[in-house]
Amino acid sequence: MKFSIPPRTALFAFLRHPRSWLNSATLGSAMVVLLWVSILAKHAENRTIDVDGTKRDLQNFALLFEENVLRSIGEMDKALLYLRRSISNADQSADFNKIVNTTDILSELIVQVAIIDANGIMRASNVGPQPAPPTDLSDREHFRFHVGRETDELFISKPLIGRASGKWSVQLTRRFLTPNGALRGVVVASFNPDHFKKFYGRIDLGTGATFSLIGTDGVVRAVGGNADTRLMLGQNLTGSKLMEHVNKGATEAFWDSATDKDMPHFVAPRTVTGHPLIVTASVPQSVVYRDSDRSLRLMISVGILLSLLIICAARRSWISETHVKQKTRQLHLTLEHMSQGIMMVTKDLEIPIINRKCVELLDLPLTYIHAPPRFDEMVAFQDQRGEFSSSNLPDGVSSLDIYGPKDAAGKFTFYERVRPDGVVIEVRSTRLADGGFVRTFSDITQRRLAQSNADRLASEDVLTGLANRRTLTEALERILSEQAIAPSDPTRNVAVLYLDLDRFKLVNDTRGHAVGDRLLQAVGQRLKESVRSCDLIGRLGGDEFAIILAVGGQDCKLETIAQRLVDAISRSYDIDGQQLLIGVSIGIAIAPRDGQTANELLISADLALYAAKAAGRCTYRFFAKEMNEDVKVRQQIETDLRKAIADDELELHYQPIINLQKSSIVGFEALARWRHPVQGMIPPDKFIPIAEECGLIDVLGQWVLNEACRQASKWPDGLTVAVNLSPMQFTNPGLASAIERALTETGLPPERLEVEITEGLLMQNTEANLATLQHLKELGVRIAMDDFGTGYSSLAYLQRFPFDRIKIDRSFVSKLGTGATSAAIVRAIVDIANSRGIHTTAEGVETEDQRASLASLGCDEAQGYLFSRPVPSTNISQVIAKWSEQARFAA
Ligand code: C2E
Ligand code: CA
Ligand code: CA
Repeated sequence: MKFSIPPRTALFAFLRHPRSWLNSATLGSAMVVLLWVSILAKHAENRTIDVDGTKRDLQNFALLFEENVLRSIGEMDKALLYLRRSISNADQSADFNKIVNTTDILSELIVQVAIIDANGIMRASNVGPQPAPPTDLSDREHFRFHVGRETDELFISKPLIGRASGKWSVQLTRRFLTPNGALRGVVVASFNPDHFKKFYGRIDLGTGATFSLIGTDGVVRAVGGNADTRLMLGQNLTGSKLMEHVNKGATEAFWDSATDKDMPHFVAPRTVTGHPLIVTASVPQSVVYRDSDRSLRLMISVGILLSLLIICAARRSWISETHVKQKTRQLHLTLEHMSQGIMMVTKDLEIPIINRKCVELLDLPLTYIHAPPRFDEMVAFQDQRGEFSSSNLPDGVSSLDIYGPKDAAGKFTFYERVRPDGVVIEVRSTRLADGGFVRTFSDITQRRLAQSNADRLASEDVLTGLANRRTLTEALERILSEQAIAPSDPTRNVAVLYLDLDRFKLVNDTRGHAVGDRLLQAVGQRLKESVRSCDLIGRLGGDEFAIILAVGGQDCKLETIAQRLVDAISRSYDIDGQQLLIGVSIGIAIAPRDGQTANELLISADLALYAAKAAGRCTYRFFAKEMNEDVKVRQQIETDLRKAIADDELELHYQPIINLQKSSIVGFEALARWRHPVQGMIPPDKFIPIAEECGLIDVLGQWVLNEACRQASKWPDGLTVAVNLSPMQFTNPGLASAIERALTETGLPPERLEVEITEGLLMQNTEANLATLQHLKELGVRIAMDDFGTGYSSLAYLQRFPFDRIKIDRSFVSKLGTGATSAAIVRAIVDIANSRGIHTTAEGVETEDQRASLASLGCDEAQGYLFSRPVPSTNISQVIAKWSEQARFAA
């Protein structure tokens, strides 16, 4: 008879047997070991993820910080150049104190401006007692740097305690020279290193990042961020790991455990383009590993619990089934309360374990928790719902892979996928020895969001949220390289619009930076509303914007768009109840016609912008080839003009001014001429504007004044000389004293000198200019308003200053006799002038008819080709002789 044991009895026998107990213990220990090995492996992997994420964040932060540093230095350098220009506009005896206190360049960046002379003595500063007492700074590096240096360079000092301000500051300096090229002194702008702290507040994404600005000499220029005690202002890092790293040219983030023994930092360095500076962004190790350490703590708790359970299970495997069930429930409870989804799949594709979190994360039917289907059925169900469309899966993972990892047993594989509702899930799988696998699912949407936020910040202009210059140029380069692939396809044409706001500076200066910032944001918003969402808008800095548009071959549409932009920006703005009005000028360049690279295109668009500004602003212009030529010609003229002034190629011609009643000569207007060795005689219209732009007008104007006074002092008594003054000459605070000197040196009585100014002068910086005019008038010099009637508000300006003379513009005179209007205008001007005791001179009189009607309209004097063209000084006596005879004849 065969002996058979009922199955249950067999199980009990197995459990009671000592060898089977031994087996359970071995199995239990093996499970515990496996559990802990998995936890450690997972932790190691989490740390790698943390390091990668932090590295990316830090490098982004460093890049942003560099951008901010570049912009700040650029702004301060602009201020230095401006200051230097004011000095060179003034004469040798310039009052430096007046220059530093009147040059309006202070901003939140700059805490002090100062001027140091060639001996290193500070001669002026806008901080401290006024006038600033001379302070010896000849030992300071920011001065010494420029001594004997061949080139004109911007110097950025180590942080020091200012001798005048008593505060920590970093000095930016540039030299300025005497006319013969020797060092005349150094202009200084100091900035407060605290300035950069503001920057950290804006970009801290909760990572506790620390920033520093360090010179390539190793000295720390600025530090800030989250309670950083590692680096100190002025500390010298020469020989440190950071400097070694940077000197090797490495740009990767690295672990620095030397600077702070207690806590290593992860540091991303970056060299600042074009300056001997380095910026760094860093975080302490505890922050880098914050996430992985947190999940390690969680895993350890779960691990301990599971280990205990396994040990208990192994030890008590003989205990009753109900007890086992209870433990199973506890295990289940643990699984249910895990923050990750977990499922186990056997080699036969059964799912013995699946937790609630898993069902929730994957949005599966709740019934799956207690009655899971087969794994292939579940995948089919998900597939049907569109979970695995190729756009939701990462590159390289096909829907087939979702069955399980391909790696050898025991190895982790993972990938991320985006669920149709946008949730990002990280899927990790571990193959089991028997051919099944365990899979976990974590929701990493937040982590990805934080990362993409950091990426976005690095590509954005912080103020307006538009693309920044870097992003814009990169996008343009990308589009252009695509275009290069299909050059004949006009639908791929792309246009760059370069926008510059008109009158923005005025708003910013008068209403404050906060309002200016809000206004820029509003402008950004209007730009967005005026173009399609596929067009890229960027802020290039300050009040400059650019837009990249796909044009599909039709330029005419661009005109509509440009006009729409001009209209949109010119509508009034309501900022905090203040109504503000600005305008915009736009330059347009089209690729590939106007440029093949992003840089070329931007330059072309900028030239077109320049033309739009020249055309009176609030309008747009397309780039034209001649614009490039114009620039070249202008540059050539500028070079030649510098030489011309030095080589005495300039001369003055004189045009007589005739009294209409007496037919007698009253004086001459001095008009500049340039006898170019190759191009011959160049008229002033061609070179005066260029001299104004490149700052040569001061020297030129001074020469004209001296020369005109010198000549006139030899003329018969009573004859006046009129000299034209450019508005630019008034930016020189020494103008009035220079005129006074010219008079004393030549002995010309002040009442024989008349200066001619234009309305443009009274439109800008009015108070200062009126003061200069007043000063001249007190000297006895006469003041004439030139080209009267051509500006916008000549009449209004007449109220503001007691002019001695009005010169009626040629455009009215030449129209005399062509209709009643011109005569009426001239009569009105003469009446207004007479009632105020102002003399009138008509310009450009060419015909006898014009002379006669001007005389009958009551005009006092006239000049023009009818009487004489401007003549060289050698012909003056002839002209005088001719007119004295005429006068005798008339009498
Ligand atoms: P402006 O001050 O209005 O000078 C009068 C211009 O009209 C002179 O041109 C003169 O030659 C011209 N003109 C005189 N009579 C007649 C006429 O009957 N018909 C016509 N068609 N033109 C006549 P120019 O010498 O070419 O000077 C042009 C402008 O250049 C001047 O206009 C003045 O604004 C500027 N300019 C000349 N010299 C100087 C200077 O030394 N300093 C400055 N800042 N500007 C100067
Ligand atoms: Ca004139
Ligand atoms: Ca004139």
